[in-house]
Amino acid sequence: MRIDLHTHTNRSDGTDSPADLVQRAHEAGIDVLGLTDHDTTEGWSEAADAARRTGGVRLVRGIEISTRYAGAGVHLLAYLPDPTHPGLVAELERVLDGRNSRLPAILERLGALGIDIAASDVRRLAGDAAALGRPHVADALVERGVVQSRDEAFVRYLGPSGPAYVDRYAADLVNTLGLVTAAGGVSVIAHPWAGRHDHRALDGAGLDALKSAGLAGVEVDHQDHDDAARAELHRLALELDLVATGSSDYHGSGKIDHDLACNHTAPEQLDRLLEMADRSSAAAGRTAPQVVGGSA
Ligand code: AMP
Ligand code: FE
Ligand code: FE
Ligand code: ZN
Repeated sequence: MRIDLHTHTNRSDGTDSPADLVQRAHEAGIDVLGLTDHDTTEGWSEAADAARRTGGVRLVRGIEISTRYAGAGVHLLAYLPDPTHPGLVAELERVLDGRNSRLPAILERLGALGIDIAASDVRRLAGDAAALGRPHVADALVERGVVQSRDEAFVRYLGPSGPAYVDRYAADLVNTLGLVTAAGGVSVIAHPWAGRHDHRALDGAGLDALKSAGLAGVEVDHQDHDDAARAELHRLALELDLVATGSSDYHGSGKIDHDLACNHTAPEQLDRLLEMADRSSAAAGRTAPQVVGGSA
């Protein structure tokens, strides 16, 4: 069984359409695919149609929500929530608004460095994306010939210590855990110990407190975690009885070294997660999305 629970499409900052993502996952021999665009469910219906049509790939619909905890950014993977839950819808709108309103400030900073990029160029390059982000600004910098790649754009301009870095609104993590539960979904913290995040608050005590607030699991096997971090997080997940997942965080050609299925989730961990999702939707009394495609 190949299970990859964290991937992106061009509805956020990936480069494949949702249908292409499902097709590529099929070709890569993936049995269960998690679609988790940043802060949007826009890709869900196209991907679900493709999964039903393609067969073979079972699709778990999710969202990677931009949150904040103890002053630091945390990416929360929300699986199978009811996408019409009013509180969740409102919070995602706030995050998307924050993404849009940050763009002029980033472009102003680039302008001060003598790099003139129009908002319309960034929006053109963002195409079908509902979640506008720094990767699209990076694409504009590549188009201009200022940098060669998204990665170089983050290193030189857009990353947290770069001269064009601008912060944006993020949802409160504990509040978001409650929203995901209320929407009948389950929550997993994405790449909790990635070096680019300040993860001091996500130690054993922090994760235990978050479990009490509704957290179901942690993404352990991820390219941003070295072997030592993976081993320690696996140990913590076991100790705290959290589900441990593994995934690629695939972004198409938008992110190097994140090929589909480069990490995966163990079948018994997926089973636990899906059982928790079933219990969550029953307790919330919401009609949550089902896993579609394959033999499901
Ligand atoms: P934003 O959501 O606008 O704050 O931008 C953050 C997004 O940029 C993350 O979701 C990553 O997928 C992407 N990202 C961060 N660092 C890099 C990098 N070095 N190369 C390509 N994409 C990156
Ligand atoms: Fe991303
Ligand atoms: Fe992330
Ligand atoms: Zn991601």
